[in-house]
Amino acid sequence: MEQPCRTCLFNSIERDQIEKNIKEYIESLSPDEKAGERLYNNRLRLCFECPNCFDGLCRICGCFVRARAAKLRSYCPDPAKRW
Ligand code: SF4
Repeated sequence: MEQPCRTCLFNSIERDQIEKNIKEYIESLSPDEKAGERLYNNRLRLCFECPNCFDGLCRICGCFVRARAAKLRSYCPDPAKRW
């Protein structure tokens, strides 16, 4: 039987935990703090098309873009102000 690669296993565990933390963070936002679904999805689309986005992270601020986009009063830190 093939053994899973330890690095891959740890990476996937870590990734699952990160995803869980982002989800919990977004859920913890009050309705006043949270961006509406349409705004959120539009922001994420712009982030995922952005050359500064790497593996879900913004290279400019270091944020997880899903968490950053979820906050209503948040903004894109790029001088180009993509959103
Ligand atoms: S927050 Fe702005 S600079 Fe960062 S990845 Fe999203 S669009 Fe790009």
